[in-house]
Amino acid sequence: MSEPARPRPIVAIDGPAGAGKSTVARRLADALGYVLVDTGAMYRAVALAAKRAGVAWDQAAPVGALAHAIVARHGLSIERDAEKGVRVWLDGEDVSDAIRAPDMGMGASTVSGHKDVRDALFDLQRQAGRGGGVVLEGRDIGTVVFPDAAVKFFLTARPEVRAR
Ligand code: C5P
Repeated sequence: MSEPARPRPIVAIDGPAGAGKSTVARRLADALGYVLVDTGAMYRAVALAAKRAGVAWDQAAPVGALAHAIVARHGLSIERDAEKGVRVWLDGEDVSDAIRAPDMGMGASTVSGHKDVRDALFDLQRQAGRGGGVVLEGRDIGTVVFPDAAVKFFLTARPEVRAR
């Protein structure tokens, strides 16, 4: 008789910017055959959606409402892509390149400061991770989003390594 399949864990990778979270998460997801969730890409997508809607990034209420609406209509999804790292879909459009424009890092950083935006994306991150067999990467993943993840990393690096 075959053994019942063991549940596949959630792997959470947390840590400061520039420590190599994305690189490690990609390699790990590929090695394990797990789904990869790049949470930074989610914040970037919200920043892009706000810009397109003409909503200033520092406007907490409308940006928060926009983020909740996107999540509610299942408008945002992310998949592993060998060429781009991850491919990001916003309302059916491939925005993988648009979210990497230089100003989107700034936009993501600003919109990520709004509690409503974080709450909306936490919901999306929990949905994405629920079934296990997934590597999630980004701030708050191991502490707030999946505090009970079976495997948690907090990745750090010396300032000179991060700068490089
Ligand atoms: O990792 P990436 O550069 O794509 O993240 C963009 C910005 O989104 C970060 O600078 C950070 O301000 C924000 N972010 C966050 N929480 C996460 C992931 C990203 O606040 N889990």
